[in-house]
Amino acid sequence: MYLSKLFIPLLKENPSEAKIKSHQLMLRTGMIKQSSTGIYSWLPLGFKIMKKIEQIVREEQNKIGAQELLMPTIQSAEIWKESGRYDDYGEELLRIKDRQGKEMLYGPTNEELITEIFRASIKSYKSLPQLLYHIQWKFRDELRPRFGVMRCKEFFMKDAYSFDLNDEEAKKSYNKMFFAYLNTFKRLGLTAIPMAADTGPIGGDLSHEFIILADTGESKIYSDKRIFDIDISKHNDADDSIKELREKYDAFYAVTDNKFKKEDFEKKVKKENQLVTKGIEVGHIFYFGDKYSKPLKCSVDLQDGKKVDVKMGSYGIGVSRLVGAIIESKFTNNVMRWPESVAPFEVAIIPSLQKNDKSNYLKAKKIYNLLIKNKIDVLFDDTEDHLSAKFKKFDLIGIPYQIILGSKFTGDKFEFKEINGETETLFLDEIKKKLLNKRN
Ligand code: ATP
Ligand code: MG
Repeated sequence: MYLSKLFIPLLKENPSEAKIKSHQLMLRTGMIKQSSTGIYSWLPLGFKIMKKIEQIVREEQNKIGAQELLMPTIQSAEIWKESGRYDDYGEELLRIKDRQGKEMLYGPTNEELITEIFRASIKSYKSLPQLLYHIQWKFRDELRPRFGVMRCKEFFMKDAYSFDLNDEEAKKSYNKMFFAYLNTFKRLGLTAIPMAADTGPIGGDLSHEFIILADTGESKIYSDKRIFDIDISKHNDADDSIKELREKYDAFYAVTDNKFKKEDFEKKVKKENQLVTKGIEVGHIFYFGDKYSKPLKCSVDLQDGKKVDVKMGSYGIGVSRLVGAIIESKFTNNVMRWPESVAPFEVAIIPSLQKNDKSNYLKAKKIYNLLIKNKIDVLFDDTEDHLSAKFKKFDLIGIPYQIILGSKFTGDKFEFKEINGETETLFLDEIKKKLLNKRN
């Protein structure tokens, strides 16, 4: 892609309405545009990053055997009345009527709808367990939408639902998701810690919030800092291995403020290991047994002819919130650095270009063509901005690698720079190999 062609409305100054880094940067680099309070359009750069995050989330769900489907954003109010949440959910629920006066709503979550789908088609214990998920827009009429994509009214979420025969099997599904979440966040370059949490309006008794540390986070957390050293790579997706991993996490105190008890914290965590700080919730998993299956009459036949309400869990990841959360955790010294797994481009070509001298342009073009031929996603800054202005711009955009052609550039070797890091001088072929090797 040529920078001159990219729809990327960069702003020179930080917009005054944006209070935190991720919101400022997403507006400044033209990733999003607010359309009304808490509702955003995703412009090409932001959309591309969000789609990469979505794909990683999807791959890790598929790896544990979850199946993707797609439910609509608009739901009938009827099933919400059946579960009792139509009244309980309160003002966050956007209620609408169609032209026949039928009560509808814009889904803030999908426990009712998935239960309705499940009960209509699954009748026998033989079809269990099931793990289903979708990645879809949600709407919550938040009281105070703020911090850009972190807390908005309309946001993109992956929500999964598990269906099992009994508590024991259901906990295995819960643990699988727990494992998938840790792997997902790791691939996004984040250290997300599962913290024991209250279940809130979703209900149930077992729940973890996945939190990444950030000063701008809205969740206050209390933990034993040794929990950050747990190495998930030693575990695989076998039930026993995941159970062991869960036990490792359970051994350390880690809670959000609604579960915090001072006496417990001080008793269980030595002073030197205590970590009290703030974090961003990027995912939340719940086990709630028959909380929805019972009122919605979602049962299956057992071998002996008896019926049993299925045991359910639900599992959310804030895909659009993650875009902001990654920025919050990766932005240092006015330089952004997207993890390679979600970077909008793999590499940038940044040449010094002058109107009356085409030589640098031609060299840069040659590099561009070679990289494109090798299917490397590259952004070529073909503008005539001064090199220092280009660097500033790329510090904001945060593409992880740069190939730089200075004004006095000669020879066959190029400056290959890791943003925020080392510079090497390499032949073009070496650059190509390096970039291809970096893919995972
Ligand atoms: P929060 O406590 O932040 O309001 P929640 O507990 O209401 O979150 P869930 O219902 O568990 O959230 O939703 C799953 C995930 O969706 C959250 O972990 C979060 O990443 C994301 N999410 C929830 N509400 C919003 C929102 N208003 N804007 C953006 N992302 C959100
Ligand atoms: Mg909420």
